[in-house]
Amino acid sequence: MEELLRRSEKLTTVGQLAAGVAHEIRNPLTTLRGFLQLQQESRKLALPHVSLMLSELDRINLIVGEFLILAKPQATRFVAKDVKDVLQDVIALMNSEAILHNIEFRISFTEESCRISCEENQLKQVFINLIKNAIEAMPAGGYIHIHMANKREHIAISITDEGEGIPEEMIPNIGDPFFTGKETGTGLGIMVSQRIINSHKGTLDIKSQVGVGTTVNIMLPALKEAAEKLLHR
Ligand code: ADP
Ligand code: MG
Repeated sequence: MEELLRRSEKLTTVGQLAAGVAHEIRNPLTTLRGFLQLQQESRKLALPHVSLMLSELDRINLIVGEFLILAKPQATRFVAKDVKDVLQDVIALMNSEAILHNIEFRISFTEESCRISCEENQLKQVFINLIKNAIEAMPAGGYIHIHMANKREHIAISITDEGEGIPEEMIPNIGDPFFTGKETGTGLGIMVSQRIINSHKGTLDIKSQVGVGTTVNIMLPALKEAAEKLLHR
C-alpha cells in the first residue's frame, strides 16, 4: 500500500519533474556555453570539443524529446485498436536494431482479438521504450520473448529479455524520473511508459532477476462490445 501511495505521489509531482528536467538540461548547457566561450576568447575549439558539444546537444534533444511525448495532450485521441497490430508495427520497426545486436524476437500472440481503446502513438512509444531497454540489457545478444493473451477483462502483454537483470535494491527506484543505471541513459523511459499506461487505465510492473533477465508485464482494459459501439458512433 505504501508503495502504491509512493508511486501515485511520484506520478503527480509535476513541479518536481520540471525541476528535474531543468537540472538535467542545465548541465549540458553549461558545458556547451563553456566551450563556446573558449572559442570566443581564444579560438581554441578542437575537434574533440566539437564532438563533445554535439553529444551534449544530442542529450538535450533526447531529454526534451522524451518529455514532448507527455506534453502533447491536445494530440491524444483514443481509438479502438487491436494491440497485436500496434505491437507488430513496433517489432517491425525495431527488428533491424535487434538484428544488429544479435537479438531475435520470439512472439506468441493469442489468435483472439485484443481490442482496446488507445492513443496509438503513445502506446507505440511504450513498446519502443521497453524493447529498447531489453536490447540494451543484452549486449551479447539473445531472445526477446513477447507474449499477448486475452484475459476477458484485460489484455495481458509481457516482454521478457534474457539480459543482465536489475539488482533487487534498484527495483523500487525504476521509474523514478532520471533514475538510470546506464552511462548515457536519461532515466525517463520507464517513467514515461508508466504514465502512458496509467492514462490508459492499465498497469505496468517489472520483475527481474540478476543474470536471468527481466519481464515487464502490462495489463490494459479490454474493449467491451458495448463500449466499442459507443466509440464508433
Ligand atoms: P534509461 O534506459 O534511459 O536508463 P529507463 O527508464 O528506460 O531509462 O530505465 C531505467 C533503468 O532501469 C535502466 O537504466 C536500467 O538500469 C533499468 N532497466 C530497465 N529495463 C531494464 C531491462 N530490461 N533489463 C535490465 N535493466 C533494465
Ligand atoms: Mg530506457
